[in-house]
Amino acid sequence: MELELSPLNLPSDNERPFVIAGPCSAETEEQVMTTAKQLAMKGCHNFRAGVWKPRTKPGGFEGHGEPALVWLEQVKKETKMLVSTEVATPEHVELCLKHGVDILWIGARTSANPFAMQAIADSLKGVDIPVFVKNPVNPDLELWIGALERINQAGIKRLGAIHRGFSSYEQKIYRNAPMWQIPIELRRRIPELPIISDPSHIGGRRELVAPLCQQAMDLGFDGLIVESHCDPDKAWSDAKQQVTPDVLDYILSLLVIRDEKT
Ligand code: PEP
Ligand code: MN
Repeated sequence: MELELSPLNLPSDNERPFVIAGPCSAETEEQVMTTAKQLAMKGCHNFRAGVWKPRTKPGGFEGHGEPALVWLEQVKKETKMLVSTEVATPEHVELCLKHGVDILWIGARTSANPFAMQAIADSLKGVDIPVFVKNPVNPDLELWIGALERINQAGIKRLGAIHRGFSSYEQKIYRNAPMWQIPIELRRRIPELPIISDPSHIGGRRELVAPLCQQAMDLGFDGLIVESHCDPDKAWSDAKQQVTPDVLDYILSLLVIRDEKT
């Protein structure tokens, strides 16, 4: 199926790289506002924070849900950044629309599930909002494309893909193997689809964020989504892979950007 796409039409569209940054999870109003203000001061235009968190095992922090969307509204008001969060159900979509979330993304566990993808797609009918679809946890390009097609068929033309690596049982350097050939093949198959990389979930460790950002740029990715927290060691989820807004700014300042896409 051919995708029917239009530009994301975000104020930061022409920035290279396009960057979304913010904490893995929205933990407290203070953590959200402190991180957001620090990122905005560094020139970041798109904020991320997870409000519903898919945890591998029960008992972890699963997000605050709707009350945290109110903090995102405050981020918008006070910093002028656009705000984004992960949606996994039609109810999440409805609440995000109610609270003025600007950009939605669909997580790797959800994009692996066609029933969940179809339910989300149905809830987006008649809505015009940019949606990013993360690759499924397993290295299945067709499943990833199928998830993108479902959202596109619902009428979402402002669509993008997020490469966040693929899980495996092996001992490994990366938390999720990048398998760059998969997003590169996605680019070949759907050249006009923006693809951004998520070095935080690929690397799983903050030392890997900088080299992974550079690798994504060298391979012609359009942008990055990076986890950034005002006090990473104290983060309630994904503490090891988050960097402060200061460190993120430094990492971005060192990136060597080539002009053309691959
Ligand atoms: C996240 O972005 O915080 C997240 C849960 O990511 P993923 O779906 O890639 O695991
Ligand atoms: Mn995370």
